[in-house]
Amino acid sequence: MASPAYEKILALQALDLSIMQLRHRHANHPIREVLDELNAERQQLDVVGAELGERHHDLERQRKRFEDEAALISDRRADIDKKLYGGEVTASKELLALQDEAASLKQQQTDLEDQELELMEQLDELSTEQGGHDQQLNGLQERIASSQAELDGQLSEIDTEIAEVEGNRNVAAADADSALVEQYEALRPLYDGVTVARLTNGSCDGCHIQLSAVALDQMIKMPEDTVVTCEECGRMLVR
Ligand SMILES: [Zn+2]
Repeated sequence: MASPAYEKILALQALDLSIMQLRHRHANHPIREVLDELNAERQQLDVVGAELGERHHDLERQRKRFEDEAALISDRRADIDKKLYGGEVTASKELLALQDEAASLKQQQTDLEDQELELMEQLDELSTEQGGHDQQLNGLQERIASSQAELDGQLSEIDTEIAEVEGNRNVAAADADSALVEQYEALRPLYDGVTVARLTNGSCDGCHIQLSAVALDQMIKMPEDTVVTCEECGRMLVR
């Protein structure tokens, strides 16, 4: 049985270990990984969305070009009709030329209408694709939001727990022997959680190395409140 002073340091260490574990849980919460994956998925969807948007923009631009072209043809046809039926052109050669042009314009108009129709079909298909994409994105965003909310809730619970344990830790530190606390604090950065180790059957349970008979003999002879450290790893030893 260790001296009460050492038991208090061990209790302090146990609280520090709890805080470390809670912080670890906070930093490595599994939902963080889920969120990383969801966010990566969203980034991919954003890229696809941008591509679809660009294609839509291109098709709309093409449609505008067709419209402008159709308007020009239509104007020119009206112009020719006026000349043909207005009686101002009488020379048969000129009339023939105008009739030829009118026929050619009509053909152009038909071709243009076919192209426009095809374009509208493409736009339709693209809109369907964009709709599906938006739906996928919305679903994903909902999942991200709900995972984030779940994570926030759980992290805040851990934060509350950390604050509680830290409170207990401060009480325990104030209650423990100040010289031991000081040494413990000084050594703590060197070890991963276990700074104070128990001496069990002659070996240090920090590094699990058997102490030499000489060292053990010296320790036994020392007053109970003397701080002893492991000759191998340097941890504070509780006898
Ligand atoms: Zn040791």
